[in-house]
Amino acid sequence: MAGSTICFCARTAHGDSLQGNIPAIHAGLRGNMMQMFMRVSRRVAAVVAICLWGQAALSDVAVLSIDSQTEGWLNRTTTVTIALDGAIPFRVSAPQDGRVAVTLNGADPLSQPAFHPDTVINRYNLSGAQEGAVISLEAQRMLTLQTASMTNSGGAARLILTFAAGSRLSRSPHDAPRRGATALPLVVLDPGHGGIDPGAVRLDIAEKDIALAFGQELRAVLQDSGRFDVRMTRDTDVFVTLRDRVRFARESGAAVFISLHANTVTRGNASGSAIYTLSEGASSAEAAALAELENRADTLGGVDLGVEDDDLALLLTDMAQRETNARSAMLARATVEAMRHAVGVIRSNPHRSAGFRVLKAPDIPSMLIELGFLSDATDRANMISPRWRGHAAQGILAALDDWVERDGVLSAQVRPAPARVAGANGD
Ligand SMILES: [Zn+2]
Repeated sequence: MAGSTICFCARTAHGDSLQGNIPAIHAGLRGNMMQMFMRVSRRVAAVVAICLWGQAALSDVAVLSIDSQTEGWLNRTTTVTIALDGAIPFRVSAPQDGRVAVTLNGADPLSQPAFHPDTVINRYNLSGAQEGAVISLEAQRMLTLQTASMTNSGGAARLILTFAAGSRLSRSPHDAPRRGATALPLVVLDPGHGGIDPGAVRLDIAEKDIALAFGQELRAVLQDSGRFDVRMTRDTDVFVTLRDRVRFARESGAAVFISLHANTVTRGNASGSAIYTLSEGASSAEAAALAELENRADTLGGVDLGVEDDDLALLLTDMAQRETNARSAMLARATVEAMRHAVGVIRSNPHRSAGFRVLKAPDIPSMLIELGFLSDATDRANMISPRWRGHAAQGILAALDDWVERDGVLSAQVRPAPARVAGANGD
């Protein structure tokens, strides 16, 4: 690909108000080392064009792979690496609504690159253009182009684009689809206890009331986002068996099941939120004791569910349950991170697991959130504060957003990708 003479030019296709500058352009004398670096102001709304001419420009260059990787939590940077079998001129459009077009002069439009999506960029399309090929990247978040550079080493070139990934793209409340019209992920919220079963009680504050209040507020936050449908296993102070909670989630077609609780200790001090998922062997003696306590809810309701332990053992050996457990664990990790940012008060080792009966739907990623300890004065004040609960609900929304993206990527990797267009989540 490397010619003996290579000339570079960098120019802008004047659209609106381009404010880009090109701080560094460097090329090896014999063209076996080329590097272009472009930094564009975040407010650039125009199309930026950079081109370099060489002997390679007119031949067909194959697009070998497209990799997307995102780092960071609140400030995310997404790096897209497009591997080519030679360096060629390129042009990157300013991202609009999470879409960005990369024009590759002289690239083969029939290339079939390997595609590795991530949580932000999960879809691409490769099409022919007069100059060669255009790769359209589609993101689930707002993108701002930060840098674009082409490196060429040993005949293999890499176009590296970095983007600041902003807020998640969502429909406005006005054009949010009616329930059932378009499938939004259905979150089933499960306020723990209820009716004759108060759960933990301290200073006249009952776990069942905290769980219901938080569940109702969380439902509003998730629905207002326009990105989730929500149903609740109970919306009033009634007793519901654990089995019926799971059954409700399955019959509703839940994408996610979240059980809401508050913890308590009779001795010693403990505080902060923790997230529990299902496992046969508990992650600690404390988790095992908690699961036993929470599973006792049915006994309090006078329901004999003696067979359920065998059920649980059987389910846990099932392949479907294993896959669901992996997805649940990913959800729990996202929730731990989100709660850490949203409310800060989180236990050490905050993702725990044990044999919670209410989490045993084999096909629905499920987690149980212990919001805090009623036995701790600060936690208690937090849990009865609408402001704190509002922050916690926003944290869980962020976690679900993150999880939906990651889970879509996981599903896309399991399914075989179509030849020309690879995608994870359809709209
Ligand atoms: Zn509970």
